Amino acid sequence: MDDTHSAPIDLATIVAGIYEEMKPRLGEGKVADYIPQLARVDPAQFGLAVVTIDGTVHSAGDAAVPFSIQSISKAFTLTLALGKHGESIWRRVGREPSGSAFNSIVQLEAEQGKPRNPFINAGAIAITDLILAGHTPKELIGEILRFLRYLANDDEIVIDRDVAQSEAATGFRNVALANFMRSFGKLDHPAEHVLGVYFHQCAIAMNCIQLARAGLFLANGGTSPLTGHSVVSRQRAKRINALMLTCGHYDGSGDFAYHVGLPGKSGVGGGILAVAPGKASIAVWSPGLNQNGNSLLGSLALEKLASRTGWSVFAG
Ligand code: GLU
Repeated sequence: MDDTHSAPIDLATIVAGIYEEMKPRLGEGKVADYIPQLARVDPAQFGLAVVTIDGTVHSAGDAAVPFSIQSISKAFTLTLALGKHGESIWRRVGREPSGSAFNSIVQLEAEQGKPRNPFINAGAIAITDLILAGHTPKELIGEILRFLRYLANDDEIVIDRDVAQSEAATGFRNVALANFMRSFGKLDHPAEHVLGVYFHQCAIAMNCIQLARAGLFLANGGTSPLTGHSVVSRQRAKRINALMLTCGHYDGSGDFAYHVGLPGKSGVGGGILAVAPGKASIAVWSPGLNQNGNSLLGSLALEKLASRTGWSVFAG
């Protein structure tokens, strides 16, 4: 199990093998419990899907079971915001790892309402505010959903309305973050409009195969091999990947880079989207989380995958 590869990579065997190794550990970690809809998800599930840039899918376990993508949606709303506003978004949001909890308010005060990066909650809320320009909240929710369906080339993707409603009913911290930014003049729209969209984007349900397909443009220089359409420029894909690598795993981003070495974005639903540039898009899901709020078995599975394929961006 080492990063040296002379033989061709047998992905089917690697994916099946990782699933077999995870099976005895199913149920490890702590399921997110801040809303009942996530707390009652069976923790003993694990799905893995690897889609190579020629569109070939290798999957194992519960790869076809939909789960709440939660913060993984932030990688896609960032893509939309860059498409709509270009580099000017960096006036509102930074590009540095935060080193503090995903929903921290302390840093936001010290930095006058400019969130550290687009993947902590405050930053993602600021990004949603930017893409709300010219739309009603309802239109934007539809646009985000259509974007994911388009990327995954799959019209079956839906929003879990119960999750969205629960997020709204319990999202006091997010309400505080949004109002705090508004008080600094760093939010253009009313907090309830922005959060209405944010809670729905977090509540999108996708399975590993759909998610890996949706992320494929990031592995393929900005162009989706599924449709042949250019989603973003090559340079932009590279930059989104850079942000995912440095900021995509809450305050466990350094640890993820150390162990896995791939750009990735995780969510409290237990999903992780990882990108092996030039090679494949990978989605893994297992609901039990580690102490940083990242999928415990998901992180472990990606470590094994990156090691066995040699796909770490740091591998020589
Ligand atoms: N809806 C969650 C929140 O905003 C997302 C958490 C996450 O996946 O990081 O608190």
